[in-house]
Amino acid sequence: MAACVCLVLPMPPFLDSFSAFSRAVSGAFGRPWHPFSLLLVMALWLTTLGNLPLWRAMWALTETHGLRTGLGLLGMGVIVFTATTVLLSLLVWPLWRKPLGVVLLMVAAANSYFMTAYGVVIDPSMMANTVQTDVREVRDLLSGSMLLVLMLGVVLPGAWWWRQPVQQWPAMRLLGRQLGLAAVALVLMMVVIWASFQDLASTMRNHKSLRYMVNPFNTVYASGRLLVGQTTQARMSLQPMGEDAAMANAGVPASPPLIVLVVGETVRAANFGLAGYARDTTPQLRQLQNSGELTYFSNVRSCGTNTQVSVPCMFSHLGREAQAKNDIPYENLLDVLQRAGMQVLWLDNQSGCKGVCDRVPNASTLTLKDPKLCPDGECFDEILLRVLPERLAELDKARPAGQPSAGTVVVLHQMGNHGPAYFKRTPADMKLYQPECRTNVLQDCPAQDIVNAYDNAVRYTDHFLGETVRWLKTQKRPTAMLYVSDHGESLGEKGLYLHGMPYMMAPQEQTHVPMALWMSKSLQKQNGWEANCWQKQAENALSHDHYFHSVLSLAQVKTRWQQPELDMFSACKAKPAQRG
Ligand SMILES: [Zn+2]
Repeated sequence: MAACVCLVLPMPPFLDSFSAFSRAVSGAFGRPWHPFSLLLVMALWLTTLGNLPLWRAMWALTETHGLRTGLGLLGMGVIVFTATTVLLSLLVWPLWRKPLGVVLLMVAAANSYFMTAYGVVIDPSMMANTVQTDVREVRDLLSGSMLLVLMLGVVLPGAWWWRQPVQQWPAMRLLGRQLGLAAVALVLMMVVIWASFQDLASTMRNHKSLRYMVNPFNTVYASGRLLVGQTTQARMSLQPMGEDAAMANAGVPASPPLIVLVVGETVRAANFGLAGYARDTTPQLRQLQNSGELTYFSNVRSCGTNTQVSVPCMFSHLGREAQAKNDIPYENLLDVLQRAGMQVLWLDNQSGCKGVCDRVPNASTLTLKDPKLCPDGECFDEILLRVLPERLAELDKARPAGQPSAGTVVVLHQMGNHGPAYFKRTPADMKLYQPECRTNVLQDCPAQDIVNAYDNAVRYTDHFLGETVRWLKTQKRPTAMLYVSDHGESLGEKGLYLHGMPYMMAPQEQTHVPMALWMSKSLQKQNGWEANCWQKQAENALSHDHYFHSVLSLAQVKTRWQQPELDMFSACKAKPAQRG
């Protein structure tokens, strides 16, 4: 052994006994493992410890834990074990046996942690979200318990897996035998599925979330779907939209309007003061509503349950159902507005615009350093208003000389109520509701503390929207602000936290979102709209499907892509205005 001059540390007792254990089970004291045995050990680990949240959820389905429940669990256990064996037999080959095993352990441990901690499930849109995440989001999720899970679920078993010697077999022999193992496991799986079909099918039908909980198949399926979708999109060229777009009433408006679209984050209607929440979390918007300047839309559904789905869907002409099935890459609302001659700007205080702002001027607050608004490297949403005037000036400078402006549409993408670290979303002097949950491990907090932190953030959005309207009032041109949240949030109801449940099984908390409109009198007059002609829509069932078509009306842009039945301002147009 090479001499070591480094620090000689005694081996911690748990590692000592761990290595003794690993020696004991490593193919009968040092003899290399039969490739199948090692594969089956991994399958057993993934089926049992790697799927604890699944077994816990299935156990909780019935109150009587009799023979039938036991047999049901056993049947499901055999199915998961045999399915995992098939998967491993097909995937694990000597060249990448070690790293692939560690990757599978990581997938199982990370999925289990997030499923247990937040009640989320792993589906394609959750996968897309994970792929698109940024440092800020990851930092918000790190915690001591997560590190512990990774230690027990990845580091220790991974180190063991890595060190195991395995018998070297000729390639053809290994190939034949391993495919044979896959075939046997497959047959066994089919037999058990057949035997337990009736119970199993009804359980899966009634509890759809279970099918997204089986590690590592949820991840394999979601990654596959994501990859197929992305390759199909990449193979097709971007479909242009709105080549016919033009300003209504031929030409440039008398006074170019400034329309601010605030894309909210994770605010649910249930905790929005204007929606009738017991706490007055929206005092500033209420004041505007009381003076007849602002309309709250009380019955609005989001397109998705996460940013990755909702934001592109809002700006798309397709609507929720068509968007979910769509593989064709289309341009969006912002491209249409720009084609009509409007100046468009996207300002982002979050993890990006998800492709929506790719062809319009855009800027992120990520690198900004403002001691008051961006302490600890993350900015409060008011930073958007601080940079807005200078960005608008740049936009004006970039406009070709002599070309009149048809108006400006600015999108402000908020950090809003992004969780789980809700407490990070509000400045210290704006924390009205106390005590606040001050950790990202939400289960460690009393339910009320989570709500307090969340409500403080809603109140901060109210403040931000109030500030936006105040600023718009100082602009000497027709102005409007349309706010809508991208999706809602679960705060522990039914054991769920955060968001991202597949839409068909998402609770109302994740899909019922607040929407509010403020419009200056001068814009109403210029559009030729009667006062509050949209008021009738305030209680109607609306959704993100209406966004594309309504913003076109608000901006007075006409194109064949607009569907009047999805325009919440259609009543305004019904009565042609007396133009001044
Ligand atoms: Zn979001």
